[in-house]
Amino acid sequence: MDIKTVGIVGAGQMGTGIAHVFALAGYDVLLNDISEDALGKGIALIDRNIERQVSKGKVSAEDKAAAMARIRTTTKLPELGPTDLIIEAATERETVKQAIFEDLLPHIQPHTILTSNTSSISITRLASRTDRPEKFMGFHFMNPVPVMQLVELIRGIATDEPTYTALHDVVKKLGKTAASAEDFPAFIVNRILMPMINEAVYTLYEGVGSVKSIDESLKLGANHPMGPLELADFIGLDTCLAIMNVLHDGLADTKYRPCPLLTKYVEAGWLGRKTDRGFYDYRGDVPVPTR
Ligand code: NAD
Repeated sequence: MDIKTVGIVGAGQMGTGIAHVFALAGYDVLLNDISEDALGKGIALIDRNIERQVSKGKVSAEDKAAAMARIRTTTKLPELGPTDLIIEAATERETVKQAIFEDLLPHIQPHTILTSNTSSISITRLASRTDRPEKFMGFHFMNPVPVMQLVELIRGIATDEPTYTALHDVVKKLGKTAASAEDFPAFIVNRILMPMINEAVYTLYEGVGSVKSIDESLKLGANHPMGPLELADFIGLDTCLAIMNVLHDGLADTKYRPCPLLTKYVEAGWLGRKTDRGFYDYRGDVPVPTR
């Protein structure tokens, strides 16, 4: 099927990144959030990020103007009804996502494909609550979306082949690479990445190393471009904790137990870069470790 218009639910770090790459690839984008403020900040962020690509010579000023003109925003979810493809990228909480799909159903077209950018929640379970499990898929972009090459495609148990093929074609049109993952908790990337981040937090919690020594060890000793705690701050500690809880509940193995220190940071509202404080404090000129 021919996808031309895309509705994106959630204008946080992922939703704005997704809007950015779809608009540059020529799709008409309607970006929704419950927060007017998030939409305003989201558009400003997309503008700044595409401008950076213009200054590096990767995007022309005309293409930037055309892309920005293709993005509209709304706080009214039903306005996404006429779109061909909907990508849900709201907060990583199953009740939030289920409510969004329930509210969307009466307004969408028979051909509309529904997807979730969830990092960990069961696609089969989300799909089963809709009227079209065969047209429902996991569409997992990586952060930051304009930079990262991979998109995980996750079929639910009922997803049909035309839906998979349509999304595979979209990934190609975005200039990205698709990897297929089966629908088990956290799929491929986060099944491997999150236990490593959680173990880094345990390493901090048990006093084996400081924030600085843990991050430096993995950067210089394992050739990782970012340390695991720096990366956790970048992803968002609430999202990291939510994914560990899905792994722990879904696979019922104590090896996925979220570190109590990760829980404590989230309870403090220290969620990483998005709140200016996590394992590092970002309020000054340079990030300062908080432990
Ligand atoms: P975020 O906290 O930056 O943004 C979430 C946005 O959703 C907020 O703007 C919030 O106002 C909005 N929202 C909440 N409830 C809503 C509703 N009912 N309707 C519309 N908007 C609503 O979170 P994020 O990091 O952008 O993550 C979003 C999703 O993407 C999550 O499912 C997350 O697991 C997934 N994801 C995150 C990353 C990452 O590195 N952060 C990577 C891949 C996937």
